[in-house]
Amino acid sequence: MTFQEGGSFEGGRVRKGGGRGRGPMIAGGGIGAVLVALLIAFVGNQTGVDLSALTGGDGSDSGAYGDGQQEYIDTCTAEQANTTRECRLNGTVQSLDAYWTEALPQQAGVEYALPEVVSFTGQVSTGCGAATSAVGPFYCPPDQTVYIDLGFYDDLTNRFGANDGGLAEMYVVAHEFGHHIEQLTGAMDSADRQGTGPESDSVRIELMADCLAGMWAGHAATTVDPDTGVTFLAPITEQELNDALSAASAVGDDRIQEAATGQVNPEGWTHGSSEQRQRWFTTGYEGGTLQDCDALSASSL
Ligand SMILES: [Zn+2]
Repeated sequence: MTFQEGGSFEGGRVRKGGGRGRGPMIAGGGIGAVLVALLIAFVGNQTGVDLSALTGGDGSDSGAYGDGQQEYIDTCTAEQANTTRECRLNGTVQSLDAYWTEALPQQAGVEYALPEVVSFTGQVSTGCGAATSAVGPFYCPPDQTVYIDLGFYDDLTNRFGANDGGLAEMYVVAHEFGHHIEQLTGAMDSADRQGTGPESDSVRIELMADCLAGMWAGHAATTVDPDTGVTFLAPITEQELNDALSAASAVGDDRIQEAATGQVNPEGWTHGSSEQRQRWFTTGYEGGTLQDCDALSASSL
């Protein structure tokens, strides 16, 4: 999916946070015990798989800069959004904002509040505690912030085996925005996110986020930038859709478990299988509504 030529995206929406290597990194176990109970990681998990082993951790260079700095991704042209990750993130966020500003009040009677968005490297302090790149992209409900580690996209391709492609990156962002929508509608609060297993609320919340990401993708080519009156994105091609589905599939619990341990243990699932993640994304993409995406109350997943 490509941004329409000639457009541009204002800067100031996505903050650059984190830094490399100052102080000890959090060990994988610590993240699992303390953090992941609080936050919904994109591919993180509460039991079983050691995600930091899968993603290889971080090289942790020295020369850090501290948190609390206020540097933002600058204004980007559409051409830049098609070629650089930072600008693609910036454009995707503004497309998501425009879509949910309309769709959320229409479908849920809830006003859309912009989430904060932080692009980080290395380590970042959040309302859910300190996190490292090992966690992958995540949403932190207490500070209503989406945290995106752009380096994760390399892992998505190289380690998880997803297709490379812009829409795969956009899917990751849209999934985390899905968690923000869940926060705004109260779905996040009504879920019991401690449990694991194929029928758990944890899995349901993740499949809902995939479905909400699909909703955005299905409308992204018709959502108009309020600043310019031009649609954000060109229609999705079949190849691009395959890239997004490939990303959804790559982060399925069964695929990750199989790669890590050679076995699949559904009782340890927190995000759903590859097949489920693709199917729920597709449900949203093919005209699904918030109600269609309500995996929390779905009788079958
Ligand atoms: Zn998630």
